[in-house]
Amino acid sequence: MTSQRTRNRLVQRLRDSGITSEDVLNVISVTPRHLFVDEALAHRAYEDTALPIGHGQTISQPYTVAKMTETLLAAGPLHRVLEIGTGSGYQTAVLSPLVKTLYSVERIEPLHVRAVERLESLGYDNVRLSLSDGTWGWPQHGPYDGILAAAAPEEVPASLLEQLADGGRMVIPVGGQEQKLILITRNGDHFARKTLESVRFVPFLPGVQR
Ligand code: SAH
Repeated sequence: MTSQRTRNRLVQRLRDSGITSEDVLNVISVTPRHLFVDEALAHRAYEDTALPIGHGQTISQPYTVAKMTETLLAAGPLHRVLEIGTGSGYQTAVLSPLVKTLYSVERIEPLHVRAVERLESLGYDNVRLSLSDGTWGWPQHGPYDGILAAAAPEEVPASLLEQLADGGRMVIPVGGQEQKLILITRNGDHFARKTLESVRFVPFLPGVQR
């Protein structure tokens, strides 16, 4: 169920869906996604689907994680990356070996606590996690040369644009019922936007939930 063969099948599926980055595919083939979901769902962990993680949230679909990671890294190595919406920590685990330092914020306390335990026990030591509302980014550690959001706001929060370094890249789903994944690249005070594809993410919500 969680064997290397099962994982390799997922990787082949991602290739067939258009993921081309060997770095990203390698990381996905060695990341134990079954440890990021409840035991009762572990047998489905290497299907290319989102799965419930409690509190009305989902672990992102592997294709989406791969696509966002590949897009974020497409212009070269990233040193400081901010993730909004740690959730289970799976996207965090995939990004971690591909960047220098990863900062990730989550607004739901029990999810944050579980992600801290998981990522620590699995040895992801370039990751810093915080229980906070990503609307405000994480200004203490910015600017970031990469920002990735796993929840969809109606509009990109101004703080995230401000905390994007010059030349930096942000991958974020935007919209309500109709969501688009967009890539924002910063060039001085100019923010270029490119629409990538239609997506379905949980909403980006304000405040911290304890
Ligand atoms: N990549 C995660 C996805 C989790 S779903 C995974 O694979 O598990 C998206 C997460 O974003 C949810 O846990 C949700 O609580 C969180 N989220 C939504 N709005 C947020 C905000 N304003 N700040 C921080 N986290 C937020």
